[in-house]
Amino acid sequence: MKHTSYDLVVIGTGFASTFFLHKYLSKASASQAKVLVLEKGHLYPHAERVKEKRGEDTPYASLNPASQDTFDNHNEKKGWVFTQGFGGSSNCWYGCTPRFMPSDFRMQSLYGIGNDWPLQYNDLEPYYEQVEEIMSISGPAMTPFPKKASYPLPPHSFSTVDKILHQEYGHLYINQPTARASVAVNGRNACCASTVCHVCPVNAKFTIENSSMGVYEDPRVELLYGAQVYSLDLEQDVARKANFLKDGKEYHVAAEVIALGTNAMFNANILLNSGDTNPFTGKGIGEQIGLQASVYLDNLENVGGSTWVNANGYMLYDGNHRKDFAACLMESNNAPYFRLERGKWRQIANFRMVFEDLPEAHNFVSTTADRMKPAVHFKGPSDYALRGIENMKAKLPSLLSRLPVEKIEYAAPYESEAHILGSTRMSKTAAEGVIDSHLLHHQYRNLFVLGSGSFTTYTPANPTLTLSALSLYAADHSF
Ligand SMILES: Cc1cc2nc3c(=O)[nH]c(=O)nc-3n(C[C@H](O)[C@H](O)[C@H](O)COP(=O)(O)OP(=O)(O)OC[C@H]3O[C@@H](n4cnc5c(N)ncnc54)[C@H](O)[C@@H]3O)c2cc1C
Ligand code: SF4
Repeated sequence: MKHTSYDLVVIGTGFASTFFLHKYLSKASASQAKVLVLEKGHLYPHAERVKEKRGEDTPYASLNPASQDTFDNHNEKKGWVFTQGFGGSSNCWYGCTPRFMPSDFRMQSLYGIGNDWPLQYNDLEPYYEQVEEIMSISGPAMTPFPKKASYPLPPHSFSTVDKILHQEYGHLYINQPTARASVAVNGRNACCASTVCHVCPVNAKFTIENSSMGVYEDPRVELLYGAQVYSLDLEQDVARKANFLKDGKEYHVAAEVIALGTNAMFNANILLNSGDTNPFTGKGIGEQIGLQASVYLDNLENVGGSTWVNANGYMLYDGNHRKDFAACLMESNNAPYFRLERGKWRQIANFRMVFEDLPEAHNFVSTTADRMKPAVHFKGPSDYALRGIENMKAKLPSLLSRLPVEKIEYAAPYESEAHILGSTRMSKTAAEGVIDSHLLHHQYRNLFVLGSGSFTTYTPANPTLTLSALSLYAADHSF
């Protein structure tokens, strides 16, 4: 560490921190700002990850902790999936980037569910656009959410089934907006639909490593690897220091401003370790719930499609039904699924049906005797989400009536959607949540709590585009 005190200390190097820093650096003094970034893990370069996938040895493979060893899971039926180390889960994410719908921010006033967010779709619109530029998102001209500019890259192509559903439903069935590039861009190759996005062999999806290293190479920024933050010094309504362990030694660094970007689970743990007494801190952690619907087709070959998830269906997403049960977002899944019947191999379509859930207080993060390790308590999805699944099963046959459907089979829900949400929710006042619309803690006004822990309600849409837009918004309005 070069200094004992910094203008800004950022914790973590995933999407939340990187987009926050991106905006901060564009606004801060060109030469004088002193920024320290504390990252628990290390850089595990893409080329080395590909080697590991090929079964070759790489010294990087053991540098970062296995995520499952970093928390106590109090529900063995529930998985929580993420990756640690430089770039966070940008290394393993799949790059699905739909925006939220305007109604997602107003669930209480429209449907009497949960709370309204303290900011609205229109506040985020310019920041959605900036994130889409930075990530070089591929997407269609027509979307169910309002959009002023076109997507930077052309859309991916539909499969046979997608084309039929798009003809039927128009802007409610669209090419998925995605960070899997449709054409080569900024050193990334075009996505070739190999559908192993966890480690993309051709580096087609956006990652922090392939597109945002400039943030960390900025001369104003000092990045410490292997620096695991366990608490903050919170005194007289100010966050004064970040406390961390590196190479077995304790360090304490002072900061004017601190930004926590360690994900919804660890942000809550660090706040609780620091003595944050906001009653909502750690409460309401959860995920969306998803399951696979396999649609068997009578004599229709479902071919084509140029990426992993080709399309999004919004037919069961928005509307008055959200007063009673969860919205559902359809993902048309283009992994190579086959029917095990001679002559009918490709006569199948697969959809991932994703449902919103509710932030419920009985799902929460608590501390453990090991200050590095949060405990996660999760009872299960809400009745609201489960009713959404039943409604979908009742409606799907008629929604797919333009297709020659033989039968639909449903799998059990996935144990995780890999989207950790809601543990430090955003609200107008401290009586309803932890942070304000600028992601600043209601009590500690120099402490940003970034990421999808901030979501007031969940929505069925993938969270990362929105959490990145929130980081840009927060930094733009606060410096
Ligand atoms: C397999 C998979 C597929 C996914 N696909 C999609 C998708 O298609 N679309 C989508 O929208 N989302 C997807 N997600 C979710 C997406 O990856 C997350 O929403 C996103 O990564 C969250 O960003 P973040 O910066 O808040 O946290 P993270 O990406 O988790 O980054 C947290 C950072 O903090 C560091 N850190 C943690 N604890 C500490 C500590 N104590 N001290 C210092 N540093 C610390 C970590 O090492 C890491 O760098 C997927 C996730 C997974 C796992
Ligand atoms: S579908 Fe294939 S090429 Fe496209 S992002 Fe995923 S792994 Fe990469």
